[in-house]
Amino acid sequence: MSSLQIEILPVLNDNYMYLLRDPATGVVGVVDPPVAGPVLERLAELDWRGKQGEIDWILSTHHHPDHTAGNLELKERTGCQVAGPAAERERIPGIDVALSEGDLFSLGERAARIFDTPGHTAGHISYWFDDSQALFCADTLFALGCGRLFEGSAEQMWLSLQKLLALPNETLVYCGHEYTLSNARFATSIDPDNSALAARAAEVEKRRQAGEPTVPSRLGEEKATNPFLRPFDEGIRSRLGMQEADDAEVFGEIRRRKDEA
Ligand SMILES: [Zn+2]
Repeated sequence: MSSLQIEILPVLNDNYMYLLRDPATGVVGVVDPPVAGPVLERLAELDWRGKQGEIDWILSTHHHPDHTAGNLELKERTGCQVAGPAAERERIPGIDVALSEGDLFSLGERAARIFDTPGHTAGHISYWFDDSQALFCADTLFALGCGRLFEGSAEQMWLSLQKLLALPNETLVYCGHEYTLSNARFATSIDPDNSALAARAAEVEKRRQAGEPTVPSRLGEEKATNPFLRPFDEGIRSRLGMQEADDAEVFGEIRRRKDEA
């Protein structure tokens, strides 16, 4: 059994898409492409070729154009199929396979479990390839942050994040944007006494100065340092004056402060 091969591909201002290849079968996929050209160029450089065309699958997480605007051109040029959230079926260009909570999506011999993770959008899904320890969660969970609540409530997003919190610490978190530097600064303002966070924030500064991605991160380090995953933390609660509130309320307050930061 071999793990997925994963290539990170920065695109637009701060988006990430991901190229995936199952080494056992040669099946190739791309997560959340807003454009087609750079996907095909990078595949040629890597010498990856899918079973039917250059790629076999597009894996869409949610309907925003900076994650889906390349779907139709890629489909036309490669003959690939598009998988995406059932709840956003009408809004995912070219969708062929609609996925929701508990479904398994197969990329060759590698299987991803699907989680419904609404909050950023109403139908956002995440793909967890457990045997490759890889989670593609786009704009639900960011390195040191989480997505804005465009179509959902704080309660909904907190439930979504709790599903991801239940995954193993070794899980690699492949998110949709490079927002880590501004997230780190905000996180430090909410949780200034967290030494693991301070160390991570310094590392993030260094990586960004060197022009390197800060993604993927390990879920274990998110659990220790990401304030959006820590609304139960006593230090954060007392800083916010919310010792008696429930976790979703504290989460909502952290999200509100980030929106205004
Ligand atoms: Zn989005």
